[in-house]
Amino acid sequence: MRTAVYPGSFDPITKGHTSILASGMKAFDRIVVAVLHNPRKTAMFTVDERIEMIRESTAEMGFGDRIVVDQFDGLLVEYCKQQGAEVILRGLRAVADFEYELQMANMNRHLNPDVETVFIMADDAYFYVSSNLVKEAAKLGGDVSELVPGPVSDRLQAKIEAQR
Ligand code: ADP
Repeated sequence: MRTAVYPGSFDPITKGHTSILASGMKAFDRIVVAVLHNPRKTAMFTVDERIEMIRESTAEMGFGDRIVVDQFDGLLVEYCKQQGAEVILRGLRAVADFEYELQMANMNRHLNPDVETVFIMADDAYFYVSSNLVKEAAKLGGDVSELVPGPVSDRLQAKIEAQR
C-alpha cells in the first residue's frame, strides 16, 4: 500500500488543496492530510476546526477511508515514518512556491533520504488560490464561495463575522 502524507496549514482548506488530493488519489492508495500544529503562526481557525472542515470536505469526494485527516508537530519526516509513508505530497503553484518547496524538499531528503517529496502541479482553475488570499478577499466582503469546498464557505463567513 502506497501512503503519502500531504502536510500543510490548511487555514482553511481550499479547492486548490482538494484538487491536489483528487490528483494524488490516482497515484497513492492512501493520503494522510496532516495539519501542521504551529504555535508560532497565527491562524484564523484552530487545528480542530481545520481538521473538521477537511473531514467534511474530503468526505464529499467519495474516496472513503483512503483519505485520512490528522495533525502533527515536530519533524515531518519522523511523522511520515510513524504513518508508514515514503512520500510527502505537495502542490506546486507559481514560481513563488518553487524556491521554498525546493529548500524544504532538500532539507527533508537530507534528514531522511528514504522519504521522497512528490509535487503535483496546481489545477489552472485554482492556480491563484491560496488560503491567505481567500481569507483576505472574504474579510473585505468578496464572494469566495467557488474557491472553497461547500463546508468551508459558511464557516468562513461565520468566523469573519465573529471576529468583527
Ligand atoms: P503551507 O503553510 O505548508 O504552505 P498550505 O495549506 O498553504 O500550507 O499548503 C499546503 C500545500 O498545498 C502546499 O504544498 C501548497 O503549495 C499546496 N497548495 C495550496 N494551495 C494550492 C492550490 N491552489 N493549488 C495547488 N496546491 C496548493
